[in-house]
Amino acid sequence: MPSPTVIEPRWVVPIEPAGTVLEAHAVVIEGDRILAVLPVADAAARYPDAPRIHLPEHVLIPGLVNLHTHAAMSLMRGMADDLGLMDWLQKHIWPAEAQLVSDEFVYDGTLLACAEMLRGGITCFNDMYFFPEAAARAALQTGMRAALGILAIEFRSNYASDAHDYLAKGMALRDTLRDEPLLSFCLAPHAPFTVSDATFAQIATYAGELELPVHIHIHETAQEVAESLAQDGIRPLARLEKAGLLGPGLIAVHSVHLDDPEIALFARHGCSVAHCASSNLKLASGIAPIAKLLQAGVNVGLGTDSAASNNRLDLFAEMRLAALLAKGSTGDATAMPTHKTLECATLGGARALGLQAQIGSIVPGKLADLTAVNLSASELTPCYDPVSHLIYVAGREHVSDVWVNGERRLVDGDLVNLDESTLRAKARQWQNRIRPS
Ligand SMILES: [Zn+2]
Repeated sequence: MPSPTVIEPRWVVPIEPAGTVLEAHAVVIEGDRILAVLPVADAAARYPDAPRIHLPEHVLIPGLVNLHTHAAMSLMRGMADDLGLMDWLQKHIWPAEAQLVSDEFVYDGTLLACAEMLRGGITCFNDMYFFPEAAARAALQTGMRAALGILAIEFRSNYASDAHDYLAKGMALRDTLRDEPLLSFCLAPHAPFTVSDATFAQIATYAGELELPVHIHIHETAQEVAESLAQDGIRPLARLEKAGLLGPGLIAVHSVHLDDPEIALFARHGCSVAHCASSNLKLASGIAPIAKLLQAGVNVGLGTDSAASNNRLDLFAEMRLAALLAKGSTGDATAMPTHKTLECATLGGARALGLQAQIGSIVPGKLADLTAVNLSASELTPCYDPVSHLIYVAGREHVSDVWVNGERRLVDGDLVNLDESTLRAKARQWQNRIRPS
């Protein structure tokens, strides 16, 4: 029988109810679950013999959810910078992937990414890449929660020959791993410009039958929209609508170039947007209309995109940037306030993945995915409001402890079950294979 553990931080920001900051409260976890959130005195009376973890200068938040990444691309970080999306993809990333990508590459790259994400307070990531079985092994080894993409793309790779083959392999993997408590699955058609209408129709059928989310890059660049109009006479989102892909399961990654009717369309269908602010700026794709989307009631989560287009897997950086961009791009300093931004990085991501009943907030009965941030450093002192510091001051370097599914995976800044020197050695080996020095 699991026994309870009492965590006593200085502050708890549970996300639900919205806008709440609790002081002198404990979070009690037992097994994989949150058992109680209650005043410290009540916790002492009710669980007198339970072990206690004192975090006297820390704020405890739900584990951050990275709603869009390609984790294995951590091995391509810094390989090609300062290019637009299509040049970057066609001249650098796709040729490198055609040569390199293998089960081993994806396993090593995902493990490296998991170490970075866990240390940065991320407990769950939504992945889209080749060889998802290798990503699954890496996630399970690190103890991270992952939503794996059942990828669909029309071109051949080392992983699969055509869209049908990609889908068949992804569906078979889901059948094998569907009972893993840390794993879930999304259908992951890559983008409108790499996936045919026939494949979209197939994906819509699977999404309906299996109730799986659909994770897709959409309206990332103005060029994508213009070429779709020139080629098909309609905008990419209209193609998705025609295919029956708009619904509460749609995770619309980027959504930079949306007009007002498209924002209303997302709201009407209950779609989610994965906002990848850094990647959109670095590839000069633009700034997504997040303030308008939130105002329309669209669920928004935050994503890092890959380490090759960001180049950090850092949701603290994304939170700060998202909040600043929402204000600067609208001329409204009240856009995307602190609590809302933190909600996007936690419960917003959970909702998009259909996991809002399990994760995303610190509520009894939910799974214990928790991140503690130490706010004792000079740059974080004084602290009038811990949520203000989380968004505008704190960085991932202030994350001290992380629990996933009730297991403590980061203890005072140290990863429990990962040897980072081995990870670095592997990364250097890959660097030598990719670009011998
Ligand atoms: Zn992406």
